[in-house]
Amino acid sequence: MWKIFSRLKTTFRAYADEHGFTCDVCGAEVFDYPNHRLCGTCEKTLLKNDGRICEKCGRKTLADGICLTCKAEPPAFTRGFSPFVYRGDTASYVNRIKNGNPRLALFFAERMAEYFLAHCPNVERFQGEERLLLVAVPLTQEKMRLRGYNQAEEFVKRIAIRLQERGYCVETDKELLVKTKETLEQKHMSYHERQENVSGAYHVHKRKACQGKTIVLVDDILTTGATASECAKRLLGAGAKEVYFLSSASVPEHK
Ligand SMILES: [Zn+2]
Ligand SMILES: [Zn+2]
Repeated sequence: MWKIFSRLKTTFRAYADEHGFTCDVCGAEVFDYPNHRLCGTCEKTLLKNDGRICEKCGRKTLADGICLTCKAEPPAFTRGFSPFVYRGDTASYVNRIKNGNPRLALFFAERMAEYFLAHCPNVERFQGEERLLLVAVPLTQEKMRLRGYNQAEEFVKRIAIRLQERGYCVETDKELLVKTKETLEQKHMSYHERQENVSGAYHVHKRKACQGKTIVLVDDILTTGATASECAKRLLGAGAKEVYFLSSASVPEHK
């Protein structure tokens, strides 16, 4: 009896794309994987960005309207969206994606897609008359070689699948935007230092592919928005109609 059970389990594991029915964060058993990619305990620790949000960048705010960062320097992108708040355990899970656990991007990407559909104005237009172009914030070739993958691209792949499953017209382009200059670690930089740091680092490699397009620029985190804004500026400069920014988590507004 046990043998049959264990054989069945093996079959099911193969079916759950060779991963097994385990939580992508802690490895606990998850019986309906991949419908649920995290166990109940890990899922409960996540900080959802479901309260008041900035009308421009989408981060969690203290008051209605526009956050202080956007008031000081409005970002070039049309609007930002992020399903989670970059704090506590949520921040550490998001960081794991680029630090060796790209699989965790699947969970976040699915939530990003759903959040985008729930919050993007007139999103139905992308069910036929218009197409969404998903573009990852790129890494330099050197960084890509060292890490082996770009976490933003991992999100893009899964978001595209989820949006298509929901009946939306989506395309992706890995070569459209490139990063040509290595930037310094931005953790302790102010907005203006970040702005200077990223200035001229990104380049639109395929200008024609941008023209008239609605682009969803994708990255892991929204901090000050300097990187997203710089990329959006380049894409709009190359003729994109509008640029949305979609990240897995965003730093909330603080006093
Ligand atoms: Zn777990
Ligand atoms: Zn804002």
